[in-house]
Amino acid sequence: MRVDPELCIGTGDCVRLAPHAFRIDDRSGVSVPQPGAVATARELLEEAAFNCPTRAITVGTDE
Ligand code: SF4
Repeated sequence: MRVDPELCIGTGDCVRLAPHAFRIDDRSGVSVPQPGAVATARELLEEAAFNCPTRAITVGTDE
């Protein structure tokens, strides 16, 4: 799973949905994937990707 920093506008929706998988970086103001993402249900990551207003989140097939 990855977040495109060029697309993310820092709404924090993904953090609220999956707090172990995402964090808003204090400096850049964009979402950064967290190590906990690997332990987060794929469905939840896909939901976060679906709900991201700018489609900045990509859930890969082998991640
Ligand atoms: S939901 Fe999308 S735009 Fe909002 S913080 Fe997460 S990645 Fe960024």
